[in-house]
Order: sequence, then structure tokens, then C-alpha cells
Amino acid sequence: KPQNERQRMPVVPQGIERDDFMKALAELRKQLGAEHVEINDKPLRDGWYMEHPNTHDMMTILDEEEFVASAIVYPASTKEVQQIVQWANKHHIPIFPISMGRNLGYGGAAPRVRGSVTLDLGKRMNKILDVSAEDYTCLVEPGVSFYALYEALKQRGLEEHMWIDTPDLGGGSVIGNTVDRGVGYTPYGDHWACHSGLEVVLPTGEVIRTGMGALPGNNTWQAFPYGFGPYSDGIFSQSNFGIVTKMGMTLMPNPGGYESFMYTFPNEEDLSSLIDIIRPLRISNILENVAQVRHVTQAIAARGLPRSTFYPDGAGTIPSSIIHAAAAQTPVGDHTWAYYGMSYGPPHIRAHKLALVDAEFRRIPGARRIDPATLPPDEYFWARDRVARGVPDIHELRWVNWRPNGAHVAFSPVSPIRGRDAMRLFALGKRLHERYGIDFFPAFCVGLREMHLIVEIVFDRADGESKRAALACLRDLVDDAAREGYGEYRTHLVLMDQVAGTYGWNDGALMKFNERLKDALDPNGILAPGRCGIWPRRYRGRGWEM
Ligand code: FAD
Repeated sequence: KPQNERQRMPVVPQGIERDDFMKALAELRKQLGAEHVEINDKPLRDGWYMEHPNTHDMMTILDEEEFVASAIVYPASTKEVQQIVQWANKHHIPIFPISMGRNLGYGGAAPRVRGSVTLDLGKRMNKILDVSAEDYTCLVEPGVSFYALYEALKQRGLEEHMWIDTPDLGGGSVIGNTVDRGVGYTPYGDHWACHSGLEVVLPTGEVIRTGMGALPGNNTWQAFPYGFGPYSDGIFSQSNFGIVTKMGMTLMPNPGGYESFMYTFPNEEDLSSLIDIIRPLRISNILENVAQVRHVTQAIAARGLPRSTFYPDGAGTIPSSIIHAAAAQTPVGDHTWAYYGMSYGPPHIRAHKLALVDAEFRRIPGARRIDPATLPPDEYFWARDRVARGVPDIHELRWVNWRPNGAHVAFSPVSPIRGRDAMRLFALGKRLHERYGIDFFPAFCVGLREMHLIVEIVFDRADGESKRAALACLRDLVDDAAREGYGEYRTHLVLMDQVAGTYGWNDGALMKFNERLKDALDPNGILAPGRCGIWPRRYRGRGWEM
């Protein structure tokens, strides 16, 4: 056989003999059908975004064998998910659920514990179970992507009636993105806040429905998220307490018009006044979506050309003179920051809001409004325009080409919408990127009362030195930011223990609480051990943390 067709020796979960593991898999094959249990014994292939692997992280920052599955199983129903969970408990095998596995920048499809069995929920559980044009809601299974939901509205003739909200890339799962508390860019961009109702298989195999879903015969599961009693949904996001098999999502009524706009600002120091100007506009909803303030370096990278085009020498961080020369070819021109936003509603309502924004933004000397009519169809602005009206897209992938074999991991601290915080985080990021010779891609994504600074570190995944520098830089970013009081909203598998450790107030009281929940809900510690830094009892203190 040619080299790339040869089989690899599959890993097995630690603590289990290979023969016992193979026997356990044979048992599962009998239950689910042989074709729905796949051993991971082929060479690991990275593919690309739309044909991504479910065996490992295609953008790995470690050795790709580090976070790798032993096998992948494909349940077709909640009942089969329950069967798999019971099987895992019987054999003490770690399992790791993914909806679609496109969690790139945060670990892709990889499990945290090497040799876990991955539950690829999305392949067979991919139905849109309900769309309500009256309530503006839907009920989906894990395999429903943003693209699929968008197409389904079109097929039902509803795309003019209501909008979905999509992250920058549309190929992810509505459930996967939401349980990881991902974001999109319409006014419904806080996906977790916009979901309503979960169906969850617990680590011991029972199934529950949250909120109104617990009331037999209800017709409000997707309309009222809380139901009665403790609001339990929260413990099923960014955790390892359950497997979500159904989720309700709210959809946005067509606002009756929309208009994207873009401003640029000349100097790095303008960030401070700009953020202070944005805060009251955003909190009062004059700025209506999770808008982005992006640095010019990323605007250049978003064109999809590798950095070697601009900087053939390539040593260290790309000099700002080169960035500014390259920026002359983009709408950002000789400026440093670009603001991308969208105004919603009929023209007279937009005109009022846009006039307020214009007057405020022009308080920054040299602020420039870019006329969209001057921008060619392939310009990045139009990708932002599509995403801000809920049309799935993949243009955003282009900046990953900045490096050969481009991969990335995100650093994403949360801060108030204040100029001085933005400047502190910007200075911190810049200093550490310069220390490690990495180009700095900061984008401030402004929520309602806070903002996430999203810094994408792009590295060459075929180059050990590039990976080591990226990881060292990320580790310093997390620690230095925490020392100044900033914590991440979400993180990559490799940083989960470190980030969880920064949330250590009162002698780690929150993690102790999470561990008590984990031990109560998952006594055998089979579900996604280590995810978000939560280790079950039988793994704790045994050197799994990194
Ligand atoms: P999955 O990989 O299926 O799930 C994510 C994680 O959640 C899993 O690892 C698993 O631990 C857990 N999980 C998934 N399903 C379940 C379940 N049913 N039950 C329990 N746990 C579960 N993300 C954003 O949020 N916003 C962006 O704007 C954005 N832009 C990006 C731009 C680029 C260029 C790239 C490469 C990535 C970007 N991402 C963004 C990150 C990522 O692509 C998306 O968040 C994506 O939607 C996540 O992948 P997924 O939906 O396939 O989730």
C-alpha cells in the first residue's frame, strides 16, 4: 500500500488493556451497527475547513498525536447516546462529544484526554426538528450547521421573514458553538443568551429536558428558557456535565432593512477615545451588533495573501512600516483601526442612528467614513456585511493563510468597554508578541457591557519552532492578563487548566464547586475529562493537567 494508506497503531485510553478495549468496541458495534463505530487507525489527515477531520485537531499546536481519539462513534438518536454513555460507564472509557468538530482555534474535533472515544453527534443527528415562523424559534439537533439552518429557512420561504445569527465561519454547529458560548454578529450574537431549552444526556445515562421542556405537553420550550426551579442550563455550557442532544434557538425578525458601515481611525492611541465613544452608543443600542474594531495588520491578512508577499525577509514581528505600506492597498489606507458595524431597520430609523454614530466617531481627529459603494465585491467589508445580516460565510478563513500551513489559537480576554482597559490589553499583547516575534492581530468585539479582545495567533503547524513560540506567547498572555485582572471567555484545550486556574478566587472555590458537581453527576469520570479544567476524581492530581 502507498505510504499514506498504511494503518497507524490506534491509541487506547490509558488504564485499559488493548485487547479489553477492542472487545469493548466490538460490543458497541453490536449495539450501534459496525459501520457506526470507527477505529482511528488511518494516518491523521488535516483536510481543510469544509472537510475537517474528526480524529484530532487539524490546527494542532502540540504534536498531533497528543490530543487524538482512539475511535469515533456515530449515534443516530438520544437513545443511542444513552447506550454509548452506559457502555462507557461499564468499561470506564473516556468519551468526548462533538457536534461537528469545527472548533478551530479552540481544539477542533480533538478530545482533551488522548485515546478518548469521540462521539460525533452531528453526522447522523442532524435534523431541524421545528421552525416556528410565529414565535421566531427553532429546535435543532447537534449536526445542524449555520449553513444548514440558513438553507432550511430559504427552503421554507422564510429567509425574508426571519434571520439566523452566524459566527464568522458558517460551517460550525448551532449547538456546538452555543454550548461553547460562541458569538455571532447580528443583535442575536450572544448565542448562549439566545438559546431556549436543552435536552441533555447525563454522564450516567439519564436524559433530561431543561426549562419548560420538563413540563409534559408544554408548548413554550423554545419561548421561555427558565421553566421552574434552578436554571440548570448554565452547567451544560463550557463543561463536561452532559451531552446536549437537542437545543432550542431564537431567531431574529427581519428588521426591515440594514446598512453596513465602516470607519477608520489614524493612530494606535485613538483606540482609547474610540472605545470610550463606543461604550454609551453600544449600551444604549445605537450600535446594535457585536461590532468589531480591528487592527490594520489583520485587515491586510484578511486579503488572504501570505506575509511573505509583504515581508520576504520574515524575521521577527512584521515592521509597522511594511504594514502601513501594504495597508495603502486596502480601504484602511494610512490608518490603524477599522470599525465594522451594521445599522438595522427601515431607512428613516437607520438615518437617525447613523447620524448619531457619525457625529460621535468624528470626534476623533482624522476619522474617516468609508463609502461602501467604493469597495469591490471581494473586499473584506462585504464578508462582515453578510455575517452581520446572518448570512453564513467563510471569507474569514483567509487570514489563516498568513503563515504557511497556517493554524491559529485564540487569546480572548474579557474587559469593560473602557479606553484604558483596551489600551492596557493592547500594550500587553503588543509587548508579548514582540518578545516572541509574532505578528499581532487584535480585534475588539464589543458585546453589550463588556468586550472580548480576540487575538488570533497564526503559526505554521509544520514548524516546531513556530508552534513553540505561539504556545509560549499564549501562556504568557494568559498569565500576564490575569495578573492585571483579565480572564478569557473561552479557550483552547491546551490552555484549559491554565485559564481555569486564573479563576481561582477564594482558594479556588469555584473549581471546588465544579469538581463536586462533576463527581456527583459523573462518578466514573467518563465524560470529557479535563474539559475546561474540570477533572473527575479518578484523574485529579495524577499529572493530567498541563
Ligand atoms: P464543536 O466542535 O462541535 O463543539 C465545540 C465544543 O463544544 C466541543 O469540543 C465539545 O467539547 C463541546 N460540545 C459540542 N457539542 C456538544 C454537545 N452536543 N454536548 C456537549 N458538549 C458539546 N467562533 C465563534 O464563536 N465566533 C466566531 O466569530 C468565530 N470565528 C472563527 C473564525 C475562524 C477563522 C476560525 C478558524 C474559527 C472561528 N470560530 C469562531 C471558532 C469555531 O470555528 C466556531 O466556534 C465553531 O462554531 C465551533 O465548532 P463547532 O460548531 O463544530 O463545535
